Amino acid sequence: MAYFSNVPTLSAEHAGSSVRWELLSATDEEIERSLAYTDPMVLRGLVYQLTGDEELLQTQVAKTRFFFAEAYGPASLQDVETIKAKALAFLKAYRDQGAGEIGIGPPERLRKSMELVVGEPIPDLEAGMWTEETALDPWSRAAEWPRAPSPEQLEKFSVIVIGAGLGGLSAAAQLKHANVRYKVIEKNPAVGGTWYENRYPGARVDTPSRAYTHIFGAEFIFDYAFAPQAENERYFNWVADKFALRPDIELNTEVQSMAWDEGQGVWKIEAIGPEGPVSYEANAVICASGLLARPSLPAIEGMDRFGGDAFHTARWPNDLDLAGKRVAVVGTGATGYQMVPELAKLAEHTTLFQRKPQWVFQLPGYTSKLPVEATWLDRNLPFHTNFMRLRTNWLTGEHVYSPIFSIDPEWKDPHSRSALNKEVRDARIAYIQEKFAGRPEFIDKMIPPHPPFSARPLLVDESYNIYDALLRDDVTLVDSGIDRVTPRGIVAGGKEHPFDVIVWATGFRANELLWPMKITGRSGITVEELWSKDGARAWVSGSMLPKFPNFFMLYGPNTNPAAGGGIVNHEEMVTRFAIEWVQKLIVDGKRSVEVTEPAYWRYNGLLDQREAGKTYTDARAKSFFMNRYERSSVMLPFAPSELWNWLRHADADEFLVT
Ligand code: NAP
Repeated sequence: MAYFSNVPTLSAEHAGSSVRWELLSATDEEIERSLAYTDPMVLRGLVYQLTGDEELLQTQVAKTRFFFAEAYGPASLQDVETIKAKALAFLKAYRDQGAGEIGIGPPERLRKSMELVVGEPIPDLEAGMWTEETALDPWSRAAEWPRAPSPEQLEKFSVIVIGAGLGGLSAAAQLKHANVRYKVIEKNPAVGGTWYENRYPGARVDTPSRAYTHIFGAEFIFDYAFAPQAENERYFNWVADKFALRPDIELNTEVQSMAWDEGQGVWKIEAIGPEGPVSYEANAVICASGLLARPSLPAIEGMDRFGGDAFHTARWPNDLDLAGKRVAVVGTGATGYQMVPELAKLAEHTTLFQRKPQWVFQLPGYTSKLPVEATWLDRNLPFHTNFMRLRTNWLTGEHVYSPIFSIDPEWKDPHSRSALNKEVRDARIAYIQEKFAGRPEFIDKMIPPHPPFSARPLLVDESYNIYDALLRDDVTLVDSGIDRVTPRGIVAGGKEHPFDVIVWATGFRANELLWPMKITGRSGITVEELWSKDGARAWVSGSMLPKFPNFFMLYGPNTNPAAGGGIVNHEEMVTRFAIEWVQKLIVDGKRSVEVTEPAYWRYNGLLDQREAGKTYTDARAKSFFMNRYERSSVMLPFAPSELWNWLRHADADEFLVT
């Protein structure tokens, strides 16, 4: 009882509205069992926040190995037991008092509670960002008007959003929340972006799903720790419905070009819709067209003469039946390695053409559903989802992840880039050796020539993954290089392999950002001209370009995180930044804003310096992380909190406002 009566009165905004009926009928034993399925660190902070029980402050933490990094966890089993006992007492009391509405408790306690979750002090400069990440306020990352706009001001300004994937839906929901007029243009017949397009067997996230929702969508409960394609697609459709975004989304409409009209101060946009060419005008554009949205197909002799089915992984045919088929997969990135184990179960025979292997990291339960107890806690332990979200973001965030991607300049070993990098490499090689102990001819073939984290690390399930697939009798690895494609199959190392289906897992045109759209800014400058020196760049977090007024990008140049944090976090930060500029233009009666050229180069100078210390610059990796100018147009070497602060507190003289 004491626990429940300690919970302060709720604010209407944060209050849960309904009784937790499942909890009402749960026995003490059921509650106790469920508590074994969450992270004790989450309970430590959450129960403290809800009860203010000072004994939780006495529980100790210690740095422990977390996957391939280090993070704070409970110091001892005794600490775990203390935390669980407190959580059990709280839930029982809450149940016995009717499991009704409950508030989050005093806001001034929250910083301490968050620190109990992460196990260490949260720096002052980051406290705001991490509070947003709890999603206790679903609109914590919404843009704020400097002052209320008039209806006439609102009527005069409109925004076009390009794309209805993760970024485009974020922009749409936030624009709607801010009451700014907007329209979304989406080339596909449905929302979801990459999760609409990539339907190959086995497609799933490798970012924990708890960190792969928008802040405003954190209440969505995933059934998987790492959601498969269909569940991600379900989430994006849920967002479109929950926030009533569909009426403002034009599907089946692909933007071809856009140009800034200096005279009128608007973007003129040309697209192809279901009825043919269509034109739009908007004061501002938020481009969320995606980084990995345009398939890259190799130019291999004879490709066009293959007699069977051939397609890129992002163009998986809906009605394809692989039973009895001989299938070739070309490409061994995240897609190829994720797909082959599943194809092996469906096809008669699967052949993987590998030019270069990648480092894989096995995780128990990666492809499994969450235990029912975990989702029960999401529904019945108030704010569990929020505090899990914080813990998950922390564990994949800058404090834990940054060292993994860092080069030690003093490090001498030719195969690795730091002591941690070597440790990871040794552990990966040991895993390869263990997996292929009975087939040693695979061992050298599966050890990548580049150090770990110089190309994308690939997450796989511990119990059945690419290595297990390669050990199957119905899977063949060919690593002799493709000579040509014939009407019957693929010739490699002088030998023809016959196939019914060829799947090109050959990646995306990630370095040709915004392609194939033609985008023309002030005085006729195109993005290709702006980027002609050494590839795509932008101002902070890929957001803005000089001479392209009122043009904002989500997941633009240099935004693929290599210092922690997920894509969603970055896109939400830039969305707020873009909409706050839109709001300023509206209420100040200004026409446009763009970043100045000196500010653009200042940021990029810092970026180049920081990039030099990152593992992804290792020349041996040769992945889409680096462009043909030997720099990255794709990767982000800065930590999320740096971007959060830069975007929030940029100097006025970084921008040109007209
Ligand atoms: P990718 O990483 O760019 O890999 C492309 C593969 O195609 C490489 O193995 C490359 O070989 C091979 N290739 C290209 N041209 C070839 C040719 N002419 N002959 C033989 N092989 C050729 O593409 P991806 O696997 O689609 O992954 C792209 C990105 O999508 C990932 O990095 C990730 O960001 C995202 N993704 C994420 C997930 C997930 O979250 N689980 C899953 C899939 C994809 P080389 O290495 O020798 O160049």
